[in-house]
Amino acid sequence: MRIAVLYFSHETVSFLKNDTTLEDFVYPGSPRRDEALLSHDPKGYMGGFVQVAREHADVELVGIESPGFPRTGTGSGWVTEEAFEHFTGRMVEELKSRGPFDGAYLCIHGAMAARGVPRPEAELARRVRAVIGPQAFIAATFDPHANEDEEFLRHADMAFCVKYFPHYDMHLQGERAARMLVRAIRGDFQPTTVTVKVPIITATVLQWTGASPWMDLVQRALTWEAREPDVFVNFMFGFPWADVPDVGITVQVLTNGKPDMARKIADDMAQAVWRQRKALVNAAKVYLIPEGVTLAKQALAKGDTPIVLADHSDRSGYATWLLKEIIAQDLHDVLIATVADAAAADALQKMKPGDAFDLEIGGRADESAGEPVHITGTVRITSPHGGAVEFGRGNLLLISRYLVQITEPSQIAAFGIDLARFKVFVIKSRVHFRRGFDDSGFAKTILLVEPTEPFLGTVRLEALPYQNVDLKRFYPYADLTFP
Ligand SMILES: [Zn+2]
Repeated sequence: MRIAVLYFSHETVSFLKNDTTLEDFVYPGSPRRDEALLSHDPKGYMGGFVQVAREHADVELVGIESPGFPRTGTGSGWVTEEAFEHFTGRMVEELKSRGPFDGAYLCIHGAMAARGVPRPEAELARRVRAVIGPQAFIAATFDPHANEDEEFLRHADMAFCVKYFPHYDMHLQGERAARMLVRAIRGDFQPTTVTVKVPIITATVLQWTGASPWMDLVQRALTWEAREPDVFVNFMFGFPWADVPDVGITVQVLTNGKPDMARKIADDMAQAVWRQRKALVNAAKVYLIPEGVTLAKQALAKGDTPIVLADHSDRSGYATWLLKEIIAQDLHDVLIATVADAAAADALQKMKPGDAFDLEIGGRADESAGEPVHITGTVRITSPHGGAVEFGRGNLLLISRYLVQITEPSQIAAFGIDLARFKVFVIKSRVHFRRGFDDSGFAKTILLVEPTEPFLGTVRLEALPYQNVDLKRFYPYADLTFP
């Protein structure tokens, strides 16, 4: 049994001005193939897939040359047509030269936006199908921020989407993809799917599955999976920062040759999602930055620390709105991780701990990043990726080359920083930080904030310059009836 393994993932914020280029996918270790690809993420989708596939002695995995996640992380815009065509073109050539295959595993994200390719994941599946033929099976794993419609499962047979945000079950979904792909190839599982789009669009900060109603809908999907053998239910939240035609919520149901059951469960899930629409779009309180910093100050005075101040909306990493307000309101004992600034990261390479620091930081990337902020202080850490500068009353600012999403306090402690010194943690994250700062019990106060003006990461989606999405087709931007 020969299974081709491919990886092509990005979560594209198409409103950012810097395209995700071919060069952004090429760095030491990327692209990779064979064992380097199969072993690259042991705790993630790939690790789960490879582990279960290799429980079967007759399975041979063939790692097809695949680019890693771009080095820009999620801080870059449209994937260029050149990049998409280059990597998918090489994949197709290698599938031809190393085939035939009984199946293919696509380790993808679902929120890629590529210039000239309206549905990149479905297009990848279509091209893979064209090479490996109609008899072979294609299984994929997805991030719940996937933007997908019926098109993907027209070309692929199976999809397994993460249920939780933070994404705790990536390895598990990889395991399931492997098990069901092997069973399908053996003739023991006949993939039968239904896809339903639910016309609701939400900012990602609202989609935390640790609170209702998002957690209730995840529970409903889990309950269906528990009730019926060989049923898999994907509840995809969608990713509104990619300006693509298939945004919004998606339900996919996979059964073993039971189209009526797939339809029934998909309709049940879709109706349950629709009934909760008002609560779904109001699931989190987001403060404007000045108010958020004032609330942080009050919590500090009351001793409700540590405090997390999360700017959920910064998509370039360069945003300085929160840094500016922290200085204006003279907040103290604050750790800021991070403000991205490639020029400052370069400048830090020429400095050493103890040196005086006097530079304008951040801003400039686009209007959503705001103005640079003048920081005068003392260099405390330098690293190839940036460094840390102490300023004000016990504040430490971490400067990075690219957008960094801090999800665990241990990411900061890894730099030798004593976390106990700080009372306020300022991070750029929407929900993933809950993993290390909330679910762990670390923070006493959590405040989600965004700038006063609705910039590109805002919950106020009506402020975004969509070209390919008509918000009037989605709740809460229209008064719709859903059949
Ligand atoms: Zn995600």
